[in-house]
Parts: sequence; structure tokens; C-alpha cells
Amino acid sequence: MIKNISVIGAGTMGNGIAHVFAQSGFNVTLIDVNPSQLQRALDTIGKNLDRQLAKGTITEEQKKSTLGHIAITHVVSEGVKDAQLVVEAATENVELKLTIFEQIDTYAPADCILATNTSSISITKIGAVTKRPGMVIGMHFMNPVPVMKLVEVINGYATKKEVTQTVLELSRQLGKVPCEVNDYPGFIANRILMPMINEAIYSLFEGVAGVEEIDTVMKLGMAHPMGPLQLADFIGLDVCLSILNVLHDGFGNPKYAPCPLLVNMVLAGKLGAKSGEGFYLHTPGSKDLVISSAFKK
Ligand code: NAD
Repeated sequence: MIKNISVIGAGTMGNGIAHVFAQSGFNVTLIDVNPSQLQRALDTIGKNLDRQLAKGTITEEQKKSTLGHIAITHVVSEGVKDAQLVVEAATENVELKLTIFEQIDTYAPADCILATNTSSISITKIGAVTKRPGMVIGMHFMNPVPVMKLVEVINGYATKKEVTQTVLELSRQLGKVPCEVNDYPGFIANRILMPMINEAIYSLFEGVAGVEEIDTVMKLGMAHPMGPLQLADFIGLDVCLSILNVLHDGFGNPKYAPCPLLVNMVLAGKLGAKSGEGFYLHTPGSKDLVISSAFKK
């Protein structure tokens, strides 16, 4: 029975993954090479628990117990030594992830499952740098983790069936709905989402319509909670570009070629919410949708 989970990377996704496991009673060790990021993650988890408390979805006792189930460390070897499952949620960079998996393969117990929250990197490639490719799997949570129900569970070429079953069951224990998919570029979520976002950017680039019109058509016409350009800002335009490149390289099909406008915006440092400007302007604390001056009519 799995009780001890180590989460590597305490950024946007790592703090959410630690939160949901701890809230479900698992012992979580949150690991990040950057100690200040660990403190920030604990603060974020505290704030998110307060929000749940205010909504009445958890009690004060559950908040306390959740925080009590999370330990932190900046030493990877120490942080994974008692783990039965490691969920890696470090920066989306192939070389970095391969190095981390070599490292955790060395220090985690031999029967520990090694999962990655990667959005686009091949699970098979990550598994191949370990001595246990059958125990390596994708566990792709959605942002924000405590809110979003989906976990895309991705089988690498060598992933063992019993490992998949364990991860599907664990996801259900977190109150999530897992969907099992196989390891091909973009899996399912990003293979379908990113071409839609790219097409929205092409529509803007070709002057078919403005930012507001494109997002309104998709919100009101397709009942999407957010338009594709707003969603791209939220995900990060650099992240969208890198996933499109993975699809383009992986399938060799020009239909995935990133729109030149997206490439230019990333080169110019207009990355969306995290940089303060993308298709919209983003001011901390404000939820108003203000179109960037670059796209004002
Ligand atoms: P982030 O930049 O917010 O956090 C990454 C963290 O990893 C940072 O705190 C960094 O200090 C840490 N890190 C870097 N190298 C490390 C190492 N060697 N050991 C331990 N920690 C290390 O990134 P994020 O948005 O949380 O994304 C993490 C992963 O989740 C990526 O693979 C990304 O593709 C995936 N993902 C992101 C989203 C999203 O919406 N942000 C959604 C689904 C999946």
C-alpha cells in the first residue's frame, strides 16, 4: 500500500500535487533545489487551504492535518529514500528531467514507482534512462491541481500494467478522474488543445478577427470557460510554443508548426500572465480582461 509520496519541484504544479496528496492522508515530502521556492510553496498551500476553509469544503482540523502531512527538503537523495511513489514536477526541460530521473533511480527504493507530470516529454524516453522503465509512468495533473479533476495517466512503451493500475487507483483516491492514454507526442490533452490555441493565434495573425472576438466566439459558441487566447496567456506562451515544437518534431507534420506571431511574442518576452503581458495585460490581483495595446483596434 502506498503511503509515502515524494514530489520533486515545488513550483506551480508541485505545490498543488503535494496539497492534494497530503489532503488525502498521504505522507508527502516536497523537494526543490531552491529552498525559497519550498517556503513559497508552503505559503501557497496554506492560502489555498484557507480558501477551501472559507468555502466550507474542509474543516480547520483537515487544514491542520494536511499541512502536518507535508515535509520539505532541498536534498533530492534524502527526499526520495523512503518513497513508494515519486511524482516529478520540475521545470519542463528534457535534459533536466533525464538527470533527475537518473538521480531518483539511484536513491529511491527499487520498488518505488517513478511518475512525471511532464506536459509533453516522452515517458518512454524518461523511462529509458532508468534501470526500471516498467515502473516509470506519466501522471499529468491539470492546473490548478486542487481544483481540476483530470489526471492523464500516460503509459510509456515499457510501463507495466500493474503500475498503471496502481496509479489509476491512487488518482481516484485523490478524488480525481484518471484517463489512461499511451505515450505519443502531446498525449491527449495537449495534442488537441495546442492546435486549437495555435489556430486561434493564426486567426489573429491573419486578421480574421481580434482578440476579443476570437475568445468570445469560443466562450459563447462552444461553452469554453476561457477563450483560447486567454488560456494561452494563462498556460504561458513559452510553454505553448515548446509543446507545439514537440508535436511538430514528433509527428513531422506541418499542421503543428507554431504560428510566427506566437514565436515572435515569446522572443519578445511577452509570455502571458507570468510576464504581465501576452494577448492581454495581467495585473496581479486584477481579474479584468484588458487587451494588450499590441492588439487594440
Ligand atoms: P515551475 O517553473 O512553476 O516549477 C518548477 C520547479 O522545479 C521550480 O520550483 C524549480 O526550482 C524546480 N526545480 C528545477 N530543477 C530542479 C531539480 N533538479 N530538482 C528539484 N526541483 C527542481 O513549473 P510548473 O509550471 O510547476 O511545471 C512543472 C511541470 O509540470 C512541468 O513538467 C510542466 O510541463 C508540467 N505541467 C505544468 C502545467 C502548468 O499549467 N503550469 C500543467 C500541467 C503540467
